[in-house]
Amino acid sequence: ATFPNSKAFRVALRQVAIREDWSFDTQYSDTKRFRASCTDEDCPWRIHASKLPNTNTFMVKKLPFEHTCGRKNCSKGMANRDWLADKGKAALEENATVSAKQLKERLQREYD
Ligand SMILES: [Zn+2]
Repeated sequence: ATFPNSKAFRVALRQVAIREDWSFDTQYSDTKRFRASCTDEDCPWRIHASKLPNTNTFMVKKLPFEHTCGRKNCSKGMANRDWLADKGKAALEENATVSAKQLKERLQREYD
């Protein structure tokens, strides 16, 4: 899989984690490379991604194992500001007049 840039990659990974109900620890993350593993110590899942030369494109290099952690309900903490900002932007485009407070309440209702 490829992504337009490192941020798009991180946002996409976080969305998958939230949707599938697991979470990851980031070993390192910068504009050139990204490495993370599942927060469950017994789970072998990990991911390596890096930037292709002369472009911002981010590419998944290694994704060797499926989760074995049973996808416990451990991703609540992953709904961090980046992800909320992304969801918030979509909600704002739907309704440009929504206030910041309404938006926050709505996001909490939908994603808590
Ligand atoms: Zn896992």
